[in-house]
Amino acid sequence: MIPKKTARILIVDDEKMNLKVLSELLREDYSLVLAKNGGQSLKFARQKPLPDLILLDVVMPEMGGHDVIRQLKNDPLTKDIPVIFVTALSTTGDEEQGLKLGAVDYITKPFSPPIVKMRIHNHLRSVHHHRLLDRLAYLDPLTEIANRRRFDEELVKELSRAARNSTSFSVGMVDVDFFKHYNDHYGHAMGDRTLYQIAAALEASLERPGDLVARYGGEEFALILPETDAPAAGRVAEKARKAIENEKIPHARSSVSPNISVSVGTATVRFTGRAGEQLREPRAGQAREHTVESLMLRADQHLYKAKQNGRNRIWP
Ligand code: GH3
Ligand code: MG
Ligand code: MG
Repeated sequence: MIPKKTARILIVDDEKMNLKVLSELLREDYSLVLAKNGGQSLKFARQKPLPDLILLDVVMPEMGGHDVIRQLKNDPLTKDIPVIFVTALSTTGDEEQGLKLGAVDYITKPFSPPIVKMRIHNHLRSVHHHRLLDRLAYLDPLTEIANRRRFDEELVKELSRAARNSTSFSVGMVDVDFFKHYNDHYGHAMGDRTLYQIAAALEASLERPGDLVARYGGEEFALILPETDAPAAGRVAEKARKAIENEKIPHARSSVSPNISVSVGTATVRFTGRAGEQLREPRAGQAREHTVESLMLRADQHLYKAKQNGRNRIWP
């Protein structure tokens, strides 16, 4: 069972009366966000915490429901939010078109309140199950933090969000110093336990809810730092480095410290333009493609710099 009021529903309708009817029907069980036109609905759909479900009217002035769903499905941030059309259009052709655009269901007005309630409940239950499975699919089994797959997906999402909102965005690469020697000296099983401890310490060192640390591979971890400029990324990196130093895990074979240490490289992109400017998809798509790789490449080069400059340090 999903606990009451934990699911969030965005209701979009240009008619006040319809918003009123739906919100009276649902407000006891869910937390609701109401939008009275297409533009507003897109804005609310992209605000965290993201809605778990969207009830979308089809016929609205300016931007109709079909345009809204197209934009939602084109945006990595919102493409997985299930959408149910609630509409007075009721030919099978309309319904078919709505479902083709990616809606999970189609409710025609006038509707029966208990049936609408049940259908919404069922969709949310399947969202909930999906999330449970996702949580496992996105978890690194050894360290129990986010895995590479989660990192890659989050990176695309956050980068496109930064492009849209014209904000700075940073990533970090964290690599354990002389970990091969550590394994050789203490054994691989001990190495595994130490990786677990490092992951937990890195995770605890992050302060903002939007920040993410993932196991990137082997003894490498990666950070996602939304709305973070270069100096702030440096502070987060130093805090992470310090957090590992403070764990004081003995490392007899390290030549830079008596304890386990990490080196960190960070890289930042700054999107310019007016904040809130709506980027058209091709441009947003391009920014995504070009920058994911170049950003990670730069972070990797900076990590290499940190290593070359003596390890147990950050760069820049
Ligand atoms: P550097 O300071 O240059 O990073 O030296 P390093 O020894 O850490 O770098 P290198 O890339 O040569 O070695 C990484 C080591 O990390 C080798 C590998 O055995 C160890 N490693 C990678 N994944 C795991 C793992 O899951 N468990 C354990 N115990 N060790 C791992
Ligand atoms: Mg490495
Ligand atoms: Mg290493």
